[in-house]
Amino acid sequence: MANLSPHHAVYAGSFDPLTLGHLDIIRRGAALFDRLTVGIGINPDKRPLFTPDERLAAIQQVVAPLKNVVVKCFEGLTVNFVRSCDAAVMLRGVRTLTDIETEFTMTLANRALDPEIETVFLMASEKYSHISSSLIKQIAHLGRGNTAEQLKAFLPLELIEPLLVKVGR
Ligand code: ADP
Repeated sequence: MANLSPHHAVYAGSFDPLTLGHLDIIRRGAALFDRLTVGIGINPDKRPLFTPDERLAAIQQVVAPLKNVVVKCFEGLTVNFVRSCDAAVMLRGVRTLTDIETEFTMTLANRALDPEIETVFLMASEKYSHISSSLIKQIAHLGRGNTAEQLKAFLPLELIEPLLVKVGR
């Protein structure tokens, strides 16, 4: 069995699109661990707004200043992806008590699948705890007035224009 590094964490999600909440977890994770891999999960059952390649390019652009962060796409179970990176840590962000309940169940399942991988949680910053990718997509689709200006509170500046183009605005 490979030697998994406790200094390397994997932060996995759909990131459709990456939000300021996700970016906050990435920055804090990158400060805690020597290496952080952001894993974009490709789930055939979901119909994402952005293709995996679009999400990969967007996140790579945003995290470019963080030298210990790499971004990859993956298919299949997250624990398998974490192991394939030789990382011992799965990093998750939690926003609400409901998040904790879901994450708790998932952590137990992941532990049963691969007991050598430890899940570490970071609590969302209060500034970002209300932000989700689905909320951002709703605002982009339905927002009135200066939507680009409104979106500044939710997602990285570089991603606002591509989002508005994607939804045809
Ligand atoms: P998933 O499809 O796995 O829910 P997401 O892209 O929605 O993927 O989220 C990835 C991870 O980021 C999850 O651990 C989620 O709880 C966390 N997360 C999502 N939004 C925020 C936020 N605003 N602040 C902190 N963590 C967040």
